[in-house]
Amino acid sequence: MDAAHLIVTGEILVSAPDAEPIQDGAVAIRDGAFIAVGNRRDILSRYEAERILERPSGLIIPGLINAHTHAAMTIFRGLADDLPLKSWLEEHIFPAEARLTPELVTLGTELACAEMIRCGTTGFVDMYLFESAVSQVVDRVGMRGWLGEGIFDFPTPAFPSGEAALKETERLISVWKGHPLITITVDPHTPYTCAPGLLEGCRNLADRHNALLVTHLAETWWEDGEIRRRHGVSPTAHLDRLGLLSDRLLATHCVAVGPEDVELMARRGVNVAHCPESNLKLGSGVAPVPEMLRAGIQVALGTDGAASNNDLDLMSEMDSAAKIPKGVHRDPTLVSARDAFGMATTGAAAALHRGDLGCIRPGMRADLAVIDLAQVHLRPCYDPVSLVVYAARSGDVQDVLVEGGSLLDDRRLVTIDEKALLARLEKAIKGAV
Ligand SMILES: [Zn+2]
Repeated sequence: MDAAHLIVTGEILVSAPDAEPIQDGAVAIRDGAFIAVGNRRDILSRYEAERILERPSGLIIPGLINAHTHAAMTIFRGLADDLPLKSWLEEHIFPAEARLTPELVTLGTELACAEMIRCGTTGFVDMYLFESAVSQVVDRVGMRGWLGEGIFDFPTPAFPSGEAALKETERLISVWKGHPLITITVDPHTPYTCAPGLLEGCRNLADRHNALLVTHLAETWWEDGEIRRRHGVSPTAHLDRLGLLSDRLLATHCVAVGPEDVELMARRGVNVAHCPESNLKLGSGVAPVPEMLRAGIQVALGTDGAASNNDLDLMSEMDSAAKIPKGVHRDPTLVSARDAFGMATTGAAAALHRGDLGCIRPGMRADLAVIDLAQVHLRPCYDPVSLVVYAARSGDVQDVLVEGGSLLDDRRLVTIDEKALLARLEKAIKGAV
């Protein structure tokens, strides 16, 4: 018998959005990677494991990837709701962020990680301030993170200038180089908060280190009008002129884009992080996702920060991603459950240039979640992907593993002391926010 570190067994295994579900499925894991996937009896007869995790009513799925968030903004959850993006950001969020400290960012990030793990999320893309503090938390918690310091033309509580934030980004790239879970990205905030010169600086830094660029793009029609007024073209065309559109760009939102922008993004291989619930809540509109998918754009799924969603729940985000286009276009065939599940798994992995993530196959990194199907709202099970997208809730997630290590074990957080975290949070929030 071959040796494995861990075998996980379940009632059903869904290895990828388009794969045939395996009844009585199991995976064998060694050195942080899947080494075998198949039927439980077959896997148990071929491998001797140090530990066997038996989940008789478990649905095993690839770990979900949140392609856009500002994790530490959990501390601003519900601080200012039901406002237009511009006044929400400029009159409420920016003033609250002026009082940010690395300690608050640490707390908020840990809270976000706890919430995301409980929703079956194994990795996330984060743009925020004091990203060094974020990276320490992600490392300690054991999630996968694509992390970038937010870069602006103006001073932030973290850095006095865009140049200083760029320097910090380069420092973080060298600090985390080669880390198995943490990747540093280059994150200009938006085309309207970064001047052309700063955007070019970001592109050059990303080029030098072969790093991914992450930015908000065309989130609102206000932004579209503002960039046209300043530069005479759409935000997407503006970034193209500056050489930022490529397959190494993860463009978030892309609500205010016309057919020519979608065509341009597809031609340049740009990847999109779609955040439907944040776009709805801020009244920004609806991204033309069916058009993007038709054009061959890789679409991933993000929650955005907890101040504009107001949760980090990718399970409900998949549900929204699948339903909104149906209602908008009065066409129930648009964005299937499989499409939405793909955005949170294989689509995100492809957008992040990680062919070794997003599905459960031998040789791929062992990130997975187990959903407990022994629930009245999850029976019967005709189609497990449909159940995950349309019926499952984050509270149904029983286990989460990253690189074969447990972050959630039978609904108990392994690397986060949840009670102590909540107590510290309440203490820190008083007077600070
Ligand atoms: Zn955002």
